[in-house]
Amino acid sequence: MISIRKYFRIIFIASILLLFCFPQTALLQTTSVEYICAGTDYETPVYIIKTDYIEPLIMIVAGTHGNEKAGIKATEYLKDNLNIERGTLIIIPKANILACEENVRCLPPEINLNRVYPGNPQGNSVEKIAYEIFSLMKRYNIGLLVDLHESIEFYRKNPKNYGQTVVIDSNDDYLFELSSLLVEEMNKGIIKDGNKYMVLLDPIKGSTAYSAHHQLGIPALTFETCRKLPLSFRIDEHLKFIKLVLFKWNMLTVER
Ligand SMILES: [Zn+2]
Repeated sequence: MISIRKYFRIIFIASILLLFCFPQTALLQTTSVEYICAGTDYETPVYIIKTDYIEPLIMIVAGTHGNEKAGIKATEYLKDNLNIERGTLIIIPKANILACEENVRCLPPEINLNRVYPGNPQGNSVEKIAYEIFSLMKRYNIGLLVDLHESIEFYRKNPKNYGQTVVIDSNDDYLFELSSLLVEEMNKGIIKDGNKYMVLLDPIKGSTAYSAHHQLGIPALTFETCRKLPLSFRIDEHLKFIKLVLFKWNMLTVER
């Protein structure tokens, strides 16, 4: 017969072992998939990573432009490898999936997904993508939108391009403080001055972030790396930016 004391000791040791084997974070999270533009050539997955705490809700969009690979690769990695501790993370790795597959900026080439928001359910195929993403933002009542992009040139070299910037669509104090803080954190890891990030205030009507902010009142950030830097570095930068955001929003308790 095992004495009561021994019994409790076994239970205690087993609980400690379980705690080490299965960290709490891994137990809380579930991932589900839904599709936007379902049943069309533009059908693309949306990954919803949920924990027991619904809020905060953050949406990350990549692949609005199909040849901006770093955000696409970073989000595809995160959907399988990230453990959040609270909140809900909604990830769209390939917003314009056909452009991503063809490795081109826009498909059809003449319609820029980042200029047609809030979209139109009766419009052309790209306006339909915008409408569905806009509807998702509304349906989930998200608290923050992060749109991932890349540019062919550094903003510091040619201000027509946005490489190495965090773009905000209004001079709202909260957005300015949040983006400044993120830029400061990102720049800690950058040695060369020319590669450092800047906050850029540039409202672009019809963009994902503009529409989120101005039409739905959702804080929104556009993160842009420069394609002149190596792809592996840029992917790491997108991963770092997303994790920093999640850390600031208490969805990750340890910066990793
Ligand atoms: Zn872009």
